[in-house]
Amino acid sequence: MPVPNSDDVAEVVAVLAAHAADVDARSRFPVESFAQLRRRGYLGLLVPAEYGGMGGGLTELTALAQQFAGGCLSTAMSWAMHCQQTDLVVRHATPELRARLLPRIAAGEVYLASVTTESSKGGHLLSAHDALRGADGYSLDREAPVVTGGMHADGFLITMRDGPDAAEHEVTLVYADSADLKIEQTAVWQTMGMRGTDSVGVRLVGRVAPDCVVGERGKFRQVAADSMVPVGHLAWSACWLGAARAVFGQLVRRIAAPRQKSGGPDVNSPLVQERVARIRLDLELVSAYLGKVTEEVGQIRARGGRLDMPAVQIHLNTLKLAASELTFRAADRMVQLAGLAAGYGTDSPLPLERTFRDLRSAALNYSNDRLWTANGTLSWADRAVSLL
Ligand SMILES: Cc1cc2nc3c(=O)[nH]c(=O)nc-3n(C[C@H](O)[C@H](O)[C@H](O)COP(=O)(O)OP(=O)(O)OC[C@H]3O[C@@H](n4cnc5c(N)ncnc54)[C@H](O)[C@@H]3O)c2cc1C
Repeated sequence: MPVPNSDDVAEVVAVLAAHAADVDARSRFPVESFAQLRRRGYLGLLVPAEYGGMGGGLTELTALAQQFAGGCLSTAMSWAMHCQQTDLVVRHATPELRARLLPRIAAGEVYLASVTTESSKGGHLLSAHDALRGADGYSLDREAPVVTGGMHADGFLITMRDGPDAAEHEVTLVYADSADLKIEQTAVWQTMGMRGTDSVGVRLVGRVAPDCVVGERGKFRQVAADSMVPVGHLAWSACWLGAARAVFGQLVRRIAAPRQKSGGPDVNSPLVQERVARIRLDLELVSAYLGKVTEEVGQIRARGGRLDMPAVQIHLNTLKLAASELTFRAADRMVQLAGLAAGYGTDSPLPLERTFRDLRSAALNYSNDRLWTANGTLSWADRAVSLL
């Protein structure tokens, strides 16, 4: 299936936008929007054509993520994280698992969720507490406090300690089909924003087949550096930018429209112009940096290179840090610019209040604190200061 045309994308965005307020208000998974994504083949964006997918790459992923996020950021993030998991399967699963799973993803039958966070170790990506167990070492009992779409997923990619005697950094990534798991919801998702991701707590108990190990046992660090981190940072940043950009467009059109009555920002006010320009600056910077990092990762992948070089990691982390902080700052400034009713009101015709709440999560969705300290440390290893 080829990557779809702009009319098809616009139809999907309209469906996402139509349900965005309701999924936010009711803190529920966007089932109607996801049904569209499944039916139109978007779950298979990154699945190679030989398995029936769209055969898209990172450029298509970041472009579509921006557009979908303009309709509903929760739906776009859930989809983007599914694509991140798909990339792991495409690049690192065994041939047997790829042959079984990728055609089902392409057909819209399998939505993949991600399980990395644990209560005992928090968000730290490269360690795990719960271990693979059993006589053959393929049984799992995993506590997972935050799983986007956890009760709607058809399959899970789960980080596990490699065994009861393994160290916490010896992490193995496994694929588990929901049919092979007992899934118990352990916590509800009641948050300020991103409420439509329905990122509930779950306990997953079951067994996986030996060919369901993704990457080498105990060496999750390698697949994280090659796939999970780069695709995550690119796709998340694209989503945040797309949401901020869409609402900015609505706000600019509203301010620039002929004024019906007094009140609201005045296009001829230098203060209003400066505020608009500052918001635009943040969006321009994120857009340009997103484009450059997408290009850099694409080029390295095309020549079969490694993404764990210090400078490349700094660029990927910088993208996540900059996108999360600048898009939220832009939303904050838009609230001020739009004023009380249009900017802060929950019944505003602009989804600014929701976008503001949603974007507040960006710095927490893999804690920026971890990335600031990582980039500080990585900077000692890149003394040539290889700027992007
Ligand atoms: C919308 C959304 C969807 C999510 N979906 C999923 C999902 O599908 N699957 C999944 O596994 N997880 C998911 N998460 C969880 C997420 O990836 C993070 O793991 C989680 O948000 C981190 O929790 P935390 O803020 O407690 O930070 P942690 O990373 O657990 O850190 C704990 C505390 O330590 C602080 N800290 C961290 N590093 C440092 C440092 N170096 N110096 C000082 N302080 C530090 C942090 O600020 C924080 O206060 C999701 C989160 C969000 C917001």
